[in-house]
Amino acid sequence: MLENSLPRPVVIAARGLYRSFGSTVALDNVDLDIHLGSSLAIMGPSGSGKSTLLHALAGIDLPDAGRITLNRSGSGPVQLESLKDKARSALRREAFGFVFQSGLLIPELTAIENVAMALMINSVPRANAMDRAGRALQQLGLAGMEDRRLGQLSGGQQQRVAIARAQVTGASVVFADEPTGALDSVTSEEVLEILLECTVGAGKSLVMVTHDRSVAARCDRIVHLSDGRLVDGNVSHGRQGGVRS
Ligand code: ADP
Repeated sequence: MLENSLPRPVVIAARGLYRSFGSTVALDNVDLDIHLGSSLAIMGPSGSGKSTLLHALAGIDLPDAGRITLNRSGSGPVQLESLKDKARSALRREAFGFVFQSGLLIPELTAIENVAMALMINSVPRANAMDRAGRALQQLGLAGMEDRRLGQLSGGQQQRVAIARAQVTGASVVFADEPTGALDSVTSEEVLEILLECTVGAGKSLVMVTHDRSVAARCDRIVHLSDGRLVDGNVSHGRQGGVRS
């Protein structure tokens, strides 16, 4: 049996997700499981519902109908859709990491401050947060660049900061929206390696929206959306996380 086909525990189970914006149906009865220690690529044409699905799975923007169950180790299942906003935000900060193209890194802050911020909003004292952020940046090859503002870093380096920020809190699921979209192919490859290593390589899960087939092919599983519906759920026989190929 292929290693990829071994059953892994489900960390997020989504059932019957439905989301509309006016007359546009963005998600139409989507069922999807996110497995522990595994990577999933969500593909589909522009407007097919990829971001809406990512946001629903991460509890950022709830669907109109459906259930999203988060199974955290050490505690019982949690229904994201039934949490109040504040509790959902807190859960998101603790359990999830995000690598989005915009919006999460703050240009006015240095690399280390951007990473430390993810800890400080979880009430980690500043000195401890800066220490952990520094180590996370070092692990991602950014030693010596801690005090640079984002504008003084290349696109690939900025994505490394975003990855450091997403995993410094110990998040068990990292969500990435086109994490390599703005990068040249060599940098894209490097960032993808790092992203996989920090997530599936560390026993965490990665859920990634991408347009890029070669990026998606590196994930354990690919699903395709079309007009808000999941049209298949191929298993990729590409990389199983953690090992540089
Ligand atoms: P994708 O990420 O695949 O490009 P989206 O999930 O962003 O697709 O959008 C799916 C559909 O829902 C699109 O038709 C989009 O225009 C619509 N949509 C998404 N968000 C909103 C919103 N906040 N208001 C209105 N329509 C939206």
